[in-house]
Amino acid sequence: MGSGKALGLARPVAALVACLVCPVLLLSQVPRVDALTAPAAPGSDPSGTAAAADDSCDLPRPDPLPTPGDPAARDFWQAFRLPLPPTPLWDPPGVKHVGLQAGHWLTEQVPPELGRLQQGSSGGGKQEWEVNLDLATRAAVMLTARGIDVDVLPATVPQNYHAHLFLAIHADGDSSGNLHGFKVARPAFSSVPDADDHLVDTLNRDYALATGLPRDDEHISRRMLYYYAFNSRRYCHAVAPGVPQAVIETGFLTSAIDRQLLIGDPDSAARGIASAVVDFLASEPS
Ligand SMILES: [Zn+2]
Repeated sequence: MGSGKALGLARPVAALVACLVCPVLLLSQVPRVDALTAPAAPGSDPSGTAAAADDSCDLPRPDPLPTPGDPAARDFWQAFRLPLPPTPLWDPPGVKHVGLQAGHWLTEQVPPELGRLQQGSSGGGKQEWEVNLDLATRAAVMLTARGIDVDVLPATVPQNYHAHLFLAIHADGDSSGNLHGFKVARPAFSSVPDADDHLVDTLNRDYALATGLPRDDEHISRRMLYYYAFNSRRYCHAVAPGVPQAVIETGFLTSAIDRQLLIGDPDSAARGIASAVVDFLASEPS
């Protein structure tokens, strides 16, 4: 996921223009964004900025936010780590609909509630978002050919996003340059833990088969387990409970070995993702 930060205003029109490079992004899914409350990462208050109302989102968030350095801040953010109530699986009949998020794409356009997202890693002359978008787009083309509807989503997820499956696609970074491999995680507070576990298992199997990369489970981070787009209690722009959801770190951009896949052979990485989506959807009752 990398390091750094960005703060910016949402511009759906700009997203629409950028989408010209992305044949499967459904423009109607790009949210109209208004002022929301301050951003947050699990375990900390990354901004401490004042909240503002958003008429289109009535999420009962426990505002006000704690101020930076407030000893109560830890408990405040801890509340968002409790398991969500069990929720019926979102699995309407008809054409399957999938959201593939290109991590860090259009990070500069996130709404104020997400206002300090990281910008991601880099390597091989590429920024992470470029690699993530390339993989998401390639996987989307493969899935569309199988009759599956796909949204390729930027860093900002539509409010209360619903799909048969949501997958956030990232590439990792490591300052030593020694780490390599991939890893998959689902929300630690999942509302559909059995489905999410099945999704993780399917991704672990199919991505390893398609890429030959080893798993790097020992470095699954808190940022993966409490990924912002999973946090439907805190953010309006999050995936809805009941939607199977996961995040994949597809490899390390800082690893020469992994770059041979991520940049040198992105179709294999995309095929691993697409295969897992197809296999997961085929195994879900409908
Ligand atoms: Zn990332």
